[in-house]
Amino acid sequence: MDWIGQIHGMFQMLYATHARTGEPYGAALPSTSLADLDQATAQASTAFEVWQASDAATRAHLLQGLATALESERDTLVTTADAETGLGMARLNGELDRTAFQLRRFAQLVTAGAAFAHVDDPAVPGLPPAGHPALMRVRVPLGPVAMFAASNFPFAFSVLGGDTASALAAGCTVVVKAHNGHLHTSRLVFALIQTVLTAQGLPAGVVQMVQAEGFEIGVALIQHPRIAAGAFTGSTRGGLALQQAARERVRPIPFYGELGSINPVLATPTALALGGEALAQTLAASIALGCGQFCTNPGLLVLQRSPESVAFVQALVTALQAQQPHVMLTAGMRHAFDAGLVAQLQAGARALLHEPVADRAPRPALLEVDADPFLRHAVLRDEVFGPSSLIVWYDDTAQGHQVLHAVGGALTVTLWGMSEDTPAHRAWVRTAASVAGRVLFAGVPTGVAVSAGQQHGGPWPSSTAPFSTSVGDAALDRFLRPVAYQDAPAWLSACQGQPC
Ligand code: NAP
Repeated sequence: MDWIGQIHGMFQMLYATHARTGEPYGAALPSTSLADLDQATAQASTAFEVWQASDAATRAHLLQGLATALESERDTLVTTADAETGLGMARLNGELDRTAFQLRRFAQLVTAGAAFAHVDDPAVPGLPPAGHPALMRVRVPLGPVAMFAASNFPFAFSVLGGDTASALAAGCTVVVKAHNGHLHTSRLVFALIQTVLTAQGLPAGVVQMVQAEGFEIGVALIQHPRIAAGAFTGSTRGGLALQQAARERVRPIPFYGELGSINPVLATPTALALGGEALAQTLAASIALGCGQFCTNPGLLVLQRSPESVAFVQALVTALQAQQPHVMLTAGMRHAFDAGLVAQLQAGARALLHEPVADRAPRPALLEVDADPFLRHAVLRDEVFGPSSLIVWYDDTAQGHQVLHAVGGALTVTLWGMSEDTPAHRAWVRTAASVAGRVLFAGVPTGVAVSAGQQHGGPWPSSTAPFSTSVGDAALDRFLRPVAYQDAPAWLSACQGQPC
């Protein structure tokens, strides 16, 4: 394809929407043309020559500078993000804190040598297989990364979110496809990145950004010959489309998609008898948190038919009725929430709590279904993005395991009531671990700690790359490729995994 010659959409403008009123928000913004996209990837590619060879101190300095800049622009950023997303000042301030924390954590990791870890395997004299040449296994950054932001985290999974932080720490440059749900927030964050890059004497191409209506720009980005990897956070459908586009390239590239998930919560009757009202309150708050717009939202409750479970469900309905979800991120998501609940009802689910309203803020919903129809109808395993959950009733343990296996893949499975070491509990843990990237034994799945032991990404359909994580220290590993240096010259071995 002739990238340079294409200037479709050059004069298009983008218009943001106020999440609470649905009215236009802020000034019109220019849309990225395919020619602009080509220019952005060219800058990212040129900058990669510099950035891949940067030392730990340079990378840490940039990441720390970005964290400080984010905090210094807090008021403007949070106010703008609140208008564009309706997520509320408290949540957005907390998310900005988390985003700055992530940047500083990757600064610490790179300073500690995480990107430069290597295996030094000296020569062994003699014939193979015991004898071998000197080998040093190092890791090199992949190249410019295409990064796709999600709507529901305008900071933490957006322009300067975890994907960008970990890619920069690894020595990759980044071209962000901004989300159309928070256009102005993205532009402000991009502007502050450019200010920091200039102040630190780094090329503008270390981070570039594109913004446009429609999917053409995203597909063009992931298929651009200069792009070496993709990192995506968003819906399963969007992730699948972009993964496909990445595979269809002349030279396919790694694609790390963090997608939607229904996050089963399984609770034994004993746990419910002990936890009762408190568990119902905690779960209701988690279902309604952020208007249910979390990839870790507990969208499925797997319960054994028992008096304790029935009492718990009654308490949960009451606790959910007291929740007051705020507006949803976009009108499209609001519509999709209603449509998702209707699809569940049409597939045989019964409503325990379902109060359709015309408002931009929905009411929480709780539906129930027996295990048999759940196992038969795939639509009941689809994510309904919003403040709702579906109870699946099972009669015997074998059926409960079948229900979890039918989910296929999830970011999390929560198991309440496994404190004793019994064969039955071990079996639940095995099933849960076969389905999810994170298995919880207490609390609720919303809230993902940014730390060394974190795993955020499970089997399909929750992720396209279940062997990697997009949250936590190991996120860095996605952007590094192993290389073995055999019989390397002394100067190269002396680099000890540092860029040469
Ligand atoms: P989305 O609609 O999939 O959008 C994500 C990005 O992909 C946007 O930039 C979007 O462009 C682009 N896109 C979507 N479909 C595409 C296609 N067919 N071709 C090319 N580009 C495409 O997701 P979202 O609405 O922002 O986020 C909500 C979803 O993300 C939920 O399912 C939630 O569970 C999931 N999520 C997952 C995680 C995680 O860590 N696993 C975290 C947060 C959210 P536009 O800007 O033009 O729409």
